[in-house]
Amino acid sequence: MSVELQLKGVSRHWGGTPVLRDLSLRVQPGERIALIGPSGAGKSTLIRLMAGALRATAGTIDVDGTPLDRMGWRALQRHRARCRIVEQQNLLVPQATVHRNVLAGLLPHWPWWRTLAAALWPVQAERVAALLQSLDMGAHQWALAGALSGGQMQRVAIARALVSEPDILLADEPTASLDPHTAKAVTRLITEQARLRGMTLVFCTHWFDIARQDCTRVIGLRRGEILFDCAPQDATEARLDQLYAGSNERL
Ligand code: ADP
Repeated sequence: MSVELQLKGVSRHWGGTPVLRDLSLRVQPGERIALIGPSGAGKSTLIRLMAGALRATAGTIDVDGTPLDRMGWRALQRHRARCRIVEQQNLLVPQATVHRNVLAGLLPHWPWWRTLAAALWPVQAERVAALLQSLDMGAHQWALAGALSGGQMQRVAIARALVSEPDILLADEPTASLDPHTAKAVTRLITEQARLRGMTLVFCTHWFDIARQDCTRVIGLRRGEILFDCAPQDATEARLDQLYAGSNERL
């Protein structure tokens, strides 16, 4: 099932300081949105608000027409489970196999006895194998996560996010700690997986060449406000210059 998000006049403050100001936007199912802008613009905060992991200070976020702040505990958990975030820190368990790390993405959906069974013997081996194969990691299913390279670990983190087949994938600069070559490959992989699976993607990235090619929409965020929200071909150099004015983060 796909999800539509609508933000209406959303603001978020941290300790009294406004970080997002009066944002309104609609995210439709299957869109691939590159969220770009300098550090501190509020991108991570926006991603967490969309995932229901943070509350807005003002305004509302509707999920398929229901405001997040009026949802009961169960509905909120359901929304959170339909969203998956891939972050810069992959938070894998290095002493566990790649297989176990990927399965961890299913734990929020499982009853306790299933979690216990998964701890005792390998379950869902074929499902995980197929997923890893699609991420070019098929050979590493039984390796320890701690033995992998940074790029491979990030692929495992992507598999962990995808294994529960979320409706919305939120990627928060997941390649920031990787070398440029690997970062580009992983960025491509994320946009490609979103396209193949028809998932909604909101992707904070500095790789806007790839974003422009592989995303359906680009949102430029600066100082907590939307500077532009346009089709990729309209994210012109002039707009990017304005977005990153005074910052040296533009790649
Ligand atoms: P971006 O992802 O664009 O770099 P963030 O959303 O991480 O921006 O941060 C925007 C602003 O909010 C920054 O000034 C940051 O210091 C502040 N901020 C983010 N998270 C917190 C927090 N947990 N506590 C206090 N301030 C925060």
